[in-house]
Amino acid sequence: MNAVMPTYGHPTVSFEKGEGAYLFDTEGRRYLDFAAGIAVNSLGHSHPHQVAALKDQAERLWHVSNLYNIPDQVRMAERLCDLSFADAVFFCNSGTEAMEGSVKAARRFHAANGHPEKWRSITLENSFHGRTLAMLSASKNPKHLDGFGVPADGFDIVPVHNMNALRDAITPETAAIVIEPIQGEGGLLPLEEAYLKELRAAADEFGLLLVFDEVQTGFGRTGRMFAHQWSGATPDIMGCAKGIAGGFPCGAILATQAVAETMTAGTHGSTFGGNPLAMAVANATLDVLTEDGFLDTVSRSGAALMSGLEALSVKHDTVLGGVRGKGLMIGMIVQEPYTNAALGAAARDFGLLTVVAGGNVLRMLPPLVIGDTEIKEAIDAIDKACATVVSAGHD
Ligand SMILES: *Cc1c(COP(=O)(O)O)cnc(C)c1O
Repeated sequence: MNAVMPTYGHPTVSFEKGEGAYLFDTEGRRYLDFAAGIAVNSLGHSHPHQVAALKDQAERLWHVSNLYNIPDQVRMAERLCDLSFADAVFFCNSGTEAMEGSVKAARRFHAANGHPEKWRSITLENSFHGRTLAMLSASKNPKHLDGFGVPADGFDIVPVHNMNALRDAITPETAAIVIEPIQGEGGLLPLEEAYLKELRAAADEFGLLLVFDEVQTGFGRTGRMFAHQWSGATPDIMGCAKGIAGGFPCGAILATQAVAETMTAGTHGSTFGGNPLAMAVANATLDVLTEDGFLDTVSRSGAALMSGLEALSVKHDTVLGGVRGKGLMIGMIVQEPYTNAALGAAARDFGLLTVVAGGNVLRMLPPLVIGDTEIKEAIDAIDKACATVVSAGHD
C-alpha cells in the first residue's frame, strides 16, 4: 500500500515553493493560496522576517526541554499576556493539545478550589476542537468518532445561540463552557456578540469557566489579535495554535491568574512545547502582527474581499447563498444541488486554493498580508468557478 496512511485520501498536487500568497507546484503552476495551510501561514509563505528568525535560531540552538528556562518562551508568554486577558501561558504543539489542555485546566481549577465534582464541559453542536479522543468527544461529530469506541464522558452538547438549552444543561458537575467565537470547520458560523456576552454572564452566575477555542480565529485572522476582542466577552482560558507561528508547529493555552495558579508543577507538560525553534518563529510572527496598522489592514482587506464575494453571490445566486465571516476568515455558503467541493475544485482549476467546511461552506483563509491584486484575482477565480459549476450541471 501507499506508505502514507490513507487518512487524507491520496492528494495529488505537490508544492515545491511558496512566496507570499502564492504557491508553486512541481509542474511550475502558480496558485493563489487562500487556504494558507488552513489558517496557518498568516504572513504568507517564506516571509523574510520569519525566515531570518528561524535560520538564526537554527544555527544556535534547536531544542532544550522545559526542565530549563527558555528565555524566548518567557518573552512570548509576556507578550501574549500584554495582548490579551491572560496572566500566564502554557505552550504546546497543536490546536487539539491546546484545547485538551484548556479543558484540563478548567477541571483542575475547580478541583483545586474544593470542587472535584465539577469536571464536565458544555460544548456546541457543529463545533470542532481537534482529533484527540477527548476533543472528538467534545464535538461528537459522528463522522470523526465512527469506529473509535464510546466517546469520552464529560461533554454535554447544546445547540448554538440557544441560551435556554445551555442553561438547562448546567448541573452541579459543570466546570466550563467551551466554544469557538467563529465556528470554523463546522461551517464558518460567527457566534453573535450578544450570545458571547450571555455565555460570559451565565458562566459568572454559575461559577463556571468560559473557554474560547481561538485556534483558527486567533492571531489577527479576524482583524483583532483575538476574535473575541470584537465582542467584549472575555474568556478565562483560551486555546490557540494555527497562525501563532505562521507554519512552525506551535500551540498555546492562555489563562487568567486564578486558573494558571492551579496548574502547579507537574500537573501538565510537553516535551516539545515552547522550544527555542518554535518560540523564535512565534516571536517573529508576533513582531509583524503587532506592527502599527497591520490588523487594520486585515480588516480592510477582509471588507474588500467580503464585498466582492457578496456581489458574486448576487450575480451567481443559484450557486452562492451568501457570505459570512469576519476579517480574513470568510465562508461562502454553497447552495444545493451544488457542492462546496465542486466549487473548490473549479476554483483550483482557475488557480485559487480554498478549503471546504461543514454545512456546504467553502472557506477563504488567505494569508493576512494579501493586497488588492490578490483580492481581485481571488474574486475573479470564484466568479469563473461559479460559472463553471453551473455550466457543468449538478448531477
Ligand atoms: C484546527 C482546529 C483545531 C485542531 O488543531 P490541530 O492543530 O489540527 O490539532 C481545534 N480547534 C479549532 C477551532 C480548529 O480550527
